[in-house]
Amino acid sequence: MQKTVLIVGLGLIGSSIALGIRRGNPELKIIGYNRRQEPREIAVSEGIVDLAFGNFQEAAEQADIIFLCVPIKQTIEMLASLASFSLRADVLVTDAGSTKLAIVRAAEGLPFKFVGGHPMAGSHKSGVLAADVNLFENAYYVFTEKSPELENLLRGLHAKYIVMAAEEHDAVTSQVSHFPHVLASSLVQQSDSFAVGHPLVKNLAAGGFRDMTRIAESDSAMWVSILLSNPAAILARLEDFKGQLDLIGQKIANRDEEGIRNFFEKGKQIRQAMEIHQGNRGAIPNFYDLFISVPDKKGVILRVLALLQDISITNIKINEDNREDIHGQLQVSFKNETDLLRARKIIETATDFVVE
Ligand code: NAD
Repeated sequence: MQKTVLIVGLGLIGSSIALGIRRGNPELKIIGYNRRQEPREIAVSEGIVDLAFGNFQEAAEQADIIFLCVPIKQTIEMLASLASFSLRADVLVTDAGSTKLAIVRAAEGLPFKFVGGHPMAGSHKSGVLAADVNLFENAYYVFTEKSPELENLLRGLHAKYIVMAAEEHDAVTSQVSHFPHVLASSLVQQSDSFAVGHPLVKNLAAGGFRDMTRIAESDSAMWVSILLSNPAAILARLEDFKGQLDLIGQKIANRDEEGIRNFFEKGKQIRQAMEIHQGNRGAIPNFYDLFISVPDKKGVILRVLALLQDISITNIKINEDNREDIHGQLQVSFKNETDLLRARKIIETATDFVVE
């Protein structure tokens, strides 16, 4: 019998998962549930799901596999609702939430099989219109327990499936994802306050600042729910970081040249040994930007665009203000890594522009 997969929450993650499931398992029936009507209509008209429901119970009761792809708080509420429905006997429920312990605990003792999941890729965009079949390409996809059924179902995502206990997942992501988001937002707010007495701060903020703070543009509603569902681990990272700042602060105060050099050498070596250095994805979503140093000449931007005409570009920005420490004044954004690499090759082959 044809199996039915239900995607609950037809946003960025739910719709992208649906596209990936269809790519790997085209024979499956994929249905969706979303409270709002507009995502339902778009998901059906774009072929992301075969059918979309505005009633959770009606959709859930005809599904063999259910993906909860809504914010964390709603995921926890929906687990409780599912327990009161007449679900299929061997239904498998999973989720996509960015934290795992609160969700896994909420599923304990419920009358259906639940496996926690976290596809660790994303975008600064949200909603069904940002759906991308390649979003999870080569990204880690964490399960809280081994599930060959889910791995097989999700094979079309081309992700890397790993198993982690929920608690360990939340500890690790607090360090490499949650805390960096807190830090990025703090840094831009500190700069904003400082700019009151030093207005040129806004002009002189350059490449290093941009790289450090890009994730400050992430969706605030999502980050509220992440911080509130993983508070202990994130607070521990905050405390620990204060110690790091004190350490380097002391070295600066003591004019400890050797100590400061060692501090930066150590940071450099650690980063170079990390997977992100090999271009692999980590816990923070990648942004697929190409920085091209183009001469300030008439027609040059049109030339770049003509060269890239066969590749889907999501955004173009001309960074005019400050060129110091910046990788290039033309910033072109792509949907995924494959498009980015193709574009880079085309520009490097056809021009002598420096590309980073
Ligand atoms: P999104 O805002 O793009 O989509 C959420 C969808 O759920 C929307 O269509 C919304 O209308 C719907 N929705 C919300 N509450 C609902 C309810 N009560 N009933 C029915 N539908 C409801 O968000 P997203 O980025 O797809 O995130 C979904 C989940 O995936 C979150 O738990 C998030 O933590 C997780 N996640 C996000 C990212 C990311 O970078 N965006 C990465 C990995 C995991």
